[in-house]
Amino acid sequence: IMQLYTPLNWFGTYYRMIQQNFIDMENMFDLLDEKQEVVDKDDAQTLPVPQGIIEFKDVSFHYTPERPILKNISFIVEPGKTVAVVGPTGSGKSTIMRLLFRFYDVPGGTILVDGLDIRDYKQKSLRQAIGVVPQDTVLFNETIFYNIHYGRVTATDSEVKDAAKHADIHDKIITFPEQYDTKDAIQKVCTERTVLVVAHRLSTIIHADTILVLKDGVIVERGSNMWRQQLEANNNTSSNLEDEEPSPDDQQNIKPEAA
Ligand code: ATP
Repeated sequence: IMQLYTPLNWFGTYYRMIQQNFIDMENMFDLLDEKQEVVDKDDAQTLPVPQGIIEFKDVSFHYTPERPILKNISFIVEPGKTVAVVGPTGSGKSTIMRLLFRFYDVPGGTILVDGLDIRDYKQKSLRQAIGVVPQDTVLFNETIFYNIHYGRVTATDSEVKDAAKHADIHDKIITFPEQYDTKDAIQKVCTERTVLVVAHRLSTIIHADTILVLKDGVIVERGSNMWRQQLEANNNTSSNLEDEEPSPDDQQNIKPEAA
């Protein structure tokens, strides 16, 4: 009976996660369609080839004053490292990404890239330079086109490209030899870059250099090796999830409630 239920359950979870990803992605596109509230300073700089140091220094944020989302969050991502942000739904993981992209300015604290306040950079150059994986729930074995198209199956080719342009990812995509037909895009994004990723997959969490656990607006845990060992141990003893994988690709490992 378990043999029968496990794959069904796994696929159910898998599809929910994919759908969630595209809700997130669409929200991101919608966000970019909104009238820009954040404007570049007159003397804003173009972010040069980034070294890749991301620092959140005492950052606080709310969408509405009565409900703080982040309370004095501080962390540093060193060049070339990957930080996975995990935490319960609504804990503010995506908010951290939006703030790094400067969709909103922070009322408290500072976000720095290569030591300079992100408010001093041109937004477009900031968004093109930093490696952010809004959610690690895309299909690593499908093309970029497929992943963008999935959330809006009625979208035409040009609408898919427009969506990518709005998200400032089009220019990056066309630098890949296979452009929109590129598979494993996120792995490419992660290679030799500093990466901040909202993590749902166990494999993301295991391979991250640092894991930040967000809860009630604060970082309740941060770590690397200890977490990794614990998660690996859990994974080895829990179910036959890996045996049910349709692909041996490590990036396909999924643990729905990793957070
Ligand atoms: P999930 O794991 O579900 O993606 P998350 O940790 O990424 O969640 P966020 O998307 O960062 O959570 O949202 C944090 C909180 O802020 C949530 O409670 C959400 O409802 C709220 N929120 C998000 N966007 C807005 C907005 N534009 N206006 C008001 N509240 C918002």
